[in-house]
Amino acid sequence: MTAADDKKSEELMSLCKRRGFIWPSYELYGGIAGMYDYGPLGFSLRNNIVEVWRDIYKGREGFTEIDTETVNPREVFKASGHLDKFADKITYCTKCGAPFRADHLVKEFYSNPDTMSEKDLDQAFLDHNVVCPDCGGKLGPVEDFNLMFRTNIGPGSSRVGYLRPETAQGIFVNFLNLYRYNREKLPFGVLQTGRGYRNEIAPRQGMIRMREFNMMEVELFVDPEDKTWSRFDEMKDEKLTLLPNTGDETVEMTVGEAVAKHVVANEVLGYFVGTTKQFLVRLGVDPARLRFRQHRKEEMAHYAKDCWDAEALLSYGWTEITGIADRGCWDLTRHSEFSGADLSHFKRFDTPREEEVEKVKPNRKSLGPAFKGQSKAVAAAVEQAKPEDVKDGRLTVTVDGKPVELGSEMFTVIKTKEKVNGERIIPNVIEPSHGLDRIFYTVLEHAYSHDDAKDYTVLHLKPEVAPVKLGVFPLMEKDNLDVLAKQICASVHTARAAAVYDGSGTIGKRYARMDEAGTPWCITVDYDSLSGPQKDTVTIRDRDTAAQKRIAVKDVPQILDDLLTGRRQFTDL
Ligand code: AMP
Repeated sequence: MTAADDKKSEELMSLCKRRGFIWPSYELYGGIAGMYDYGPLGFSLRNNIVEVWRDIYKGREGFTEIDTETVNPREVFKASGHLDKFADKITYCTKCGAPFRADHLVKEFYSNPDTMSEKDLDQAFLDHNVVCPDCGGKLGPVEDFNLMFRTNIGPGSSRVGYLRPETAQGIFVNFLNLYRYNREKLPFGVLQTGRGYRNEIAPRQGMIRMREFNMMEVELFVDPEDKTWSRFDEMKDEKLTLLPNTGDETVEMTVGEAVAKHVVANEVLGYFVGTTKQFLVRLGVDPARLRFRQHRKEEMAHYAKDCWDAEALLSYGWTEITGIADRGCWDLTRHSEFSGADLSHFKRFDTPREEEVEKVKPNRKSLGPAFKGQSKAVAAAVEQAKPEDVKDGRLTVTVDGKPVELGSEMFTVIKTKEKVNGERIIPNVIEPSHGLDRIFYTVLEHAYSHDDAKDYTVLHLKPEVAPVKLGVFPLMEKDNLDVLAKQICASVHTARAAAVYDGSGTIGKRYARMDEAGTPWCITVDYDSLSGPQKDTVTIRDRDTAAQKRIAVKDVPQILDDLLTGRRQFTDL
């Protein structure tokens, strides 16, 4: 991070605090690293980002949205692998006890320290004389630190729970409900936005590494043998800047080329990398400061088969803001294994196939004398058994809730030809997972401009996401100018399109306040608005060009609506 970058992120954070975008949490009690609260402007901006995400995934793609619990029982994360694998490497200073992320301490010596083992990191401390950055003490042995927050569900410690580190698991554990809701057809997509919790060892870099953060996740359930996407053609010309894991150079190519050249593995992944670019650019992320980087094999999360990160260039350097992962069948297979539920999809063949199948048949002659009155029920249970249930020539079935063990004389495994209509497969999951707070910060940083000579700040936020759409000022708060200004403000103000009345300070100061808050347009009511040839007109000013036009008071609501929806540009007025 250069001094200029440092200055920029400090200025932006100070603007965020001053104007009510974000505030460090619990400042009253000294604050806690990695925790932030959203103020009024920040919360509106964040909500507007979520609405654009919904517009794309619910509106355009027709996916459904759910909301699931943030406290999950231990079983969920045992199955998902997070309990065993979701950890960072930690070391404690043996002198002052301060904790550090071990890989961060050696990052100047290695290109991929996050992939090093505990032993390698211990050795790296010795090789490079790395000591405690706080007190110079010797560093202790490197160990795994699980990032999940642990809690108890109910009193005592009878049921261990964890705060979710991702929203995705809430979708996977509801797979059967969602599968039925979607009429048992693939593909289908489900979205969820909400909090994720990661007990980060050393949160730094403002909103980039938080302990409690907001995610917008989409889980797409697809046929593993058919990773084509019906609307791929609409996306194939979208241009991407890609950094594949086969080299160090970025390449420019379209989504279509990337899939055709196998740079991106399949159409579904390609389509959603393209969608992510469209989403981020629509929010105001600068395309020249956006790239997609493929994870190296050793860097991939435990569940991922392939992963592309959308990275934005920030004052902190290139930073992951969204991960688009092919999770394969990992999650559903594991939840199926651990819960015992069948989480497969029945894939119907186009035409039924004649296949040789193995079946277990009861030997009624042997069952009759052995089980007498119960033999019918035992025979029925044998008919339901699968050949793989036969272990060492014996078969155990359940009759009236009790296990019944049968010797090989009681049944036969036969081969027979059958018409098969389909097969059961475990759906694969493709996941665009967006870090809402990082996207929020990126939108602010890419919108931020500061004129050092004039000491003047403008946030060039896209109107669609700007927290306030219109500022309305009376030239002075007297002579009924304020009355008309308040009327205009009330005529357009809604929960979705906030308008703000401001009557204090000079007009220049009021413009400056609105420019700093990213408000795209301001209206001023002057004496000409009240009488004379320009009666019933007001000036409207464009934030980005500072150009001004005169418009009729009665047209204000329509004009604002047109500008917001893009039906008209400011220059067209
Ligand atoms: P992951 O599941 O690790 O790919 O995370 C999904 C997204 O969440 C990332 O692309 C980040 O944007 C965001 N994210 C992950 N960890 C944090 C964190 N500690 N603070 C803020 N955002 C995060």
